[in-house]
Amino acid sequence: MLDKVVIANRGEIALRILRACREMGIKTVAVHSTADNNLKHVLLSDETVCIGPPPSADSYLDMPAIISAAEVTDAVGVHPGYGFLSENADFAERVESSGFVFIGPPASAIRLMGDKVSAIRAMKAAGVPCVPGSDGPLGDDHDENIRIARSIGYPIIIKAAGGGGGRGMRVVHAEASLIAAITVTKAEARAAFSNDTVYMEKFLEHPRHVEFQVLADSHGNAIHLGERDCSMQRRHQKVIEEAPAPGISEEQRNRIGERCVRACQEIGYRSAGTFEFLYEDDEFYFIEMNTRLQVEHPVTEMITGIDIVREQLRIAAGEKLSVTQDQVRVMGHAIECRINAEDPKTFMPSPGLITLWHAPGGPGVRVDSHIYSGYRVPPFYDSMIGKVIAHGGDRNAAIARMKNALTEIVIEGIKTNVPLHQEIFQHTAFQQGGTDIHYLERRLGLV
Ligand code: ADP
Repeated sequence: MLDKVVIANRGEIALRILRACREMGIKTVAVHSTADNNLKHVLLSDETVCIGPPPSADSYLDMPAIISAAEVTDAVGVHPGYGFLSENADFAERVESSGFVFIGPPASAIRLMGDKVSAIRAMKAAGVPCVPGSDGPLGDDHDENIRIARSIGYPIIIKAAGGGGGRGMRVVHAEASLIAAITVTKAEARAAFSNDTVYMEKFLEHPRHVEFQVLADSHGNAIHLGERDCSMQRRHQKVIEEAPAPGISEEQRNRIGERCVRACQEIGYRSAGTFEFLYEDDEFYFIEMNTRLQVEHPVTEMITGIDIVREQLRIAAGEKLSVTQDQVRVMGHAIECRINAEDPKTFMPSPGLITLWHAPGGPGVRVDSHIYSGYRVPPFYDSMIGKVIAHGGDRNAAIARMKNALTEIVIEGIKTNVPLHQEIFQHTAFQQGGTDIHYLERRLGLV
């Protein structure tokens, strides 16, 4: 097993990784910025290294600083968490060429899936269903692009191959605006991602976001852990996630899950990963793969009993997956609420001192959070301060437990989005399940 691991992240996910390491007898090194001396996992870690000032660019994104920290502490591996450098193929490569284990996929897989055009090509080859679209990048021939759009049918969406975080996309409703939209998206993509490759897809008007969790080891074994529904979003940011996805049959789960597994094997994938799909009218359409651990991994852990971070650490140490596909069972239902330090109405960030924190509890309730009474939420990073996860025998039981949890939780001193969650849990549409990705913004009057 790995002897010592650098946790190249912060907040709740750094604490989550630290917990898994400790359970497995792995020593930890917390690398942190000067704004994060008093983060919970920094206080609990075996060793700590300050890697720079508060701005992420000078600390959590500073590759040489993180690799030096691994060197001076004699660490063996580096876990990138999510966000920051987790999907940076150059980082994965530099970690490995410096003699450390990158606890994630091979750089080649990150690179392949980081380019949406090459990702879609690889997925099609593996039999994963994709959105109808241009077969590859769009060229400069206007007539040809008009012809492709006609054959797909409007509305269509122009997407940048190198896009991410919901940027580099433009919806086109009619032929009159097609050519201008391609030109503008190309120019934006060149400026934002230094890559002006764009492609075209059918624009789905009321899809749900359904994603599949996979695990693959370095011995050629790959499994899927079923799907999650993450349709409750605002500005492409997930707010609530659940597993399994309401209304998805076991046949659909097995069919799509098996395709994802096959894709992992074909691209030489390793570690944890997620295949994201849009789901509309009973059909799945692959949109992208996340080559990392995800914020919402706990809902899958709760329904399968499989510790995904533990599996990542085992895989990185060269061990085989601890379970086979037929040992994976979906047990009950789990829902996660992301707790953000923000105004529940205006969504303005609300950093500052937490004067009182009381965590919810009881059967089936899990809290992944680094906050404590007296902790000051710094203004420099993402506003998510934790996640509450509720598990129950079925969806209604999970909802009932989450409602309890949301009334028990106390966070004073800063504003949080707990009131928004309380409100959503009262919505009949949410209780019925299966709302599309625009539901929340419609309810909030934002669209
Ligand atoms: P990013 O890498 O920026 O997250 P994605 O390809 O995952 O880009 O798309 C982000 C979001 O954009 C999706 O979750 C969905 O809301 C919307 N989207 C992307 N492609 C389509 C499509 N073909 N039809 C409808 N919506 C889409």
